[in-house]
Amino acid sequence: MKASSSVTTKPLVLVVEDEGPLVTMLRYNLEKAGYRVVAAVDGQEALTLLAEECPDLVLLDWMLPQTSGLEVCRQIRRRSETRNVPVVMLTARAEEADRVRGLETGADDYITKPFSPAELIARVRAVLRRATPTLEDETLSRGGLIMDLVRHRVTRAGRPIELGPTEFRLLRHFLAKPERVFAREQLLDAVWGRDTYVEERTVDVHIRRLRKALNGPGEADIIRTVRSAGYALALEEPVAG
Ligand code: CA
Repeated sequence: MKASSSVTTKPLVLVVEDEGPLVTMLRYNLEKAGYRVVAAVDGQEALTLLAEECPDLVLLDWMLPQTSGLEVCRQIRRRSETRNVPVVMLTARAEEADRVRGLETGADDYITKPFSPAELIARVRAVLRRATPTLEDETLSRGGLIMDLVRHRVTRAGRPIELGPTEFRLLRHFLAKPERVFAREQLLDAVWGRDTYVEERTVDVHIRRLRKALNGPGEADIIRTVRSAGYALALEEPVAG
């Protein structure tokens, strides 16, 4: 049985690099390792693609024309909708001070050129695993909510929840990136697909249904409405002891 593509979507990596041959090499190796790739040649294009494509990770070259990779990273961290996207910086500079600067700006990891494809993939995998620990699992869970992606079953505090297919995809999208705020437009792209024409109000309708299904009497609302931004999960993970 083939799982529906919306449930098993391959992680999307945004490559930001102005050197063509390196982009080709990165794309080849990332795709071979099971990732989807979009590429930008400068910071401006990167920020546009970030908003449009909602990548799971950004591979960001330090040396870019116009806006430097460092500045792009800073802008990624400044915007609420991209704040939690993991960033791996690529650089020819091996100095410790640069590494620290990169990490202080908000990069999650750092790869020094030249690097081997194996190292690249290992780093990308590790950063993605840390950022979305459940991305490749068959079960997503958070704060008492459990989503079994294989059996298409959802429970909250042990209570079975019935969800329609759209609500199921919405919830899956939230749970895969539990810290993020999603704009309506991003939810439309991710859940309905880019090619369908659906009004943003439709998102509100399905969020309402999702809330109604998830929130039992006396239970806290699982979905947070973020004014003028969109929606986010309101489930806190208990602090591990
Ligand atoms: Ca470059």
